[in-house]
Amino acid sequence: MKKTVRDVDVKGKRVLVRCDFNVPMKEGKITDDTRIVSALPTVKYLIENEAKIILMSHMGRPKGEPKPEYSLRPVAERLSELLGQRVIFTPSPEVVDDEVRGKAGELKPGEVMLLENVRFRKEETKNEEPFTGQLAALGNIFVNDAFGTAHRAHCSTAGIAGYLPSVSGFLIEKEVKFLGKVLDDPERPLAAIMGGAKVGDKIPVIKNLLGKVDILIIGGGMAYTFFKAMGYEIGKSILDADNVTLAGELMKEADERGVKLLLPVDTVCAAEFDNSSRKAVYDRDRIPEDMMGMDIGPKTVELCREALKDAKTIVWNGPAGVFEMPAFAEGTRAIAEMLAESDAVTVIGGGDSAAAVAQFGLEDKMTHISTGGGASLEFLEGRELPGITCLEDK
Ligand code: ADP
Ligand code: MG
Repeated sequence: MKKTVRDVDVKGKRVLVRCDFNVPMKEGKITDDTRIVSALPTVKYLIENEAKIILMSHMGRPKGEPKPEYSLRPVAERLSELLGQRVIFTPSPEVVDDEVRGKAGELKPGEVMLLENVRFRKEETKNEEPFTGQLAALGNIFVNDAFGTAHRAHCSTAGIAGYLPSVSGFLIEKEVKFLGKVLDDPERPLAAIMGGAKVGDKIPVIKNLLGKVDILIIGGGMAYTFFKAMGYEIGKSILDADNVTLAGELMKEADERGVKLLLPVDTVCAAEFDNSSRKAVYDRDRIPEDMMGMDIGPKTVELCREALKDAKTIVWNGPAGVFEMPAFAEGTRAIAEMLAESDAVTVIGGGDSAAAVAQFGLEDKMTHISTGGGASLEFLEGRELPGITCLEDK
C-alpha cells in the first residue's frame, strides 16, 4: 500500500502535485474536461487542509520546446471555474524560472498555482537534470495523481520522488485499489473480456490474466487471428499475421490452466471498412473471402451473457467490434449493457473501451473506469508503474 495525501501533514507546506491535465483541445478550447474534474478531489483536499498547492502536468507532445498551442493556460482557466477560486498560472517557457520560484515562495495556504506544460522542457521525458531538481526545489512534498502517465518515468512523474517525501493523490489511490483488486484479490468467478484491434498489443495482458481469471472472452479484431490459428479462413478481416502461432499457444495455455476461453462463434461481416457497407452475419467458419469481420454476432453475444451470468468480477479491455461505426457497435454495446446490469464488480481499462462506455452513456453504471489508457494496460500486464513504485509505502 502506498501512502496517500492523508498520510502526510500538508498544512502550510508547498505541495507539488503531478496531475494529468492532458485534455483534448480544439481551436484553443477544451473539448472534454474529464481529466480536470478527476483531479478535483485531491486539489480540494489540499485546499481544505491549507497546503500551498503547485500543480504540474503535460499536455500533448510539444517535444521539449515551448509551443503556444500546448500551453496549459486554458486548463488554469477551467480549473479556476471548477474550484471557484483563482488559479495562479505561470506561463514561463522554461516552466521553472526566477519569477516562478518567486511566485511559489509567496503562495499562501489554500492558494493554487499551475506551472506551464512540463514537456516544454526537453529533460522531462528523459527524466534528466537539471529540470527534476528545479521542479523539486519548488516544493516540500510530492503528490502523484497522474495515473495516465504513471507508466512513464519522467522528471515530474518519478524523478522528483528522489528529492521529496512522495505520496499518491486520490485518483491514483482509486486506480490502484480497483485494478489491483482485480489482479490480487478478486471476488470469483473473475471474467476478463479482451478485444481491440491487434493481438500483438494485448499479448502481455492476456498472458498475465490467463494466470488469474476463471473466464476469458476474446472478441474484437484480435479474434480473427485466433480463428486463423484454429484453421478458419477469415476473408479480409484484420489479421495479426506475426502472432497466429502465439494465439494457438494462448488457447492451449487457457486449456491447461482450466480457464474457460470463449471465442466468437459468429461475426458481423462487411464488404468494406465503412459504416454504410453491405453487411451480414456469418458463423466463424463461413466468413466469405471478400468480406471482413467487424463485430461479434448475436449468437456470440448470448454466449457472453451466459458466461458472465455468475461472474463476481469482470474486467474489460478492448471493444468487441468497430464501435466507432454505428453499424458495427451493437456487440460492444451489448457487452457494455451486460456489465452495466451486472451485480459484479466491473472494471474498464483502455482508452477506447472507456470511450465506448461513454458513447453508450453507461459510465455511471460501472464500478471503475480507468482514466489511464496505456497505464491501465501496463498495470493489467502486471508491470510496475514507475510513477507509483516511486511513492512511499505505508
Ligand atoms: P483500448 O483502447 O480499449 O485498449 P484498443 O485500442 O486495443 O482498445 O482497440 C480499439 C480499436 O479496435 C477500436 O478502434 C476498434 O474500432 C478496433 N476494432 C475492434 N474490433 C475490430 C475489428 N473487428 N476490426 C478492426 N478493428 C477493430
Ligand atoms: Mg486504444
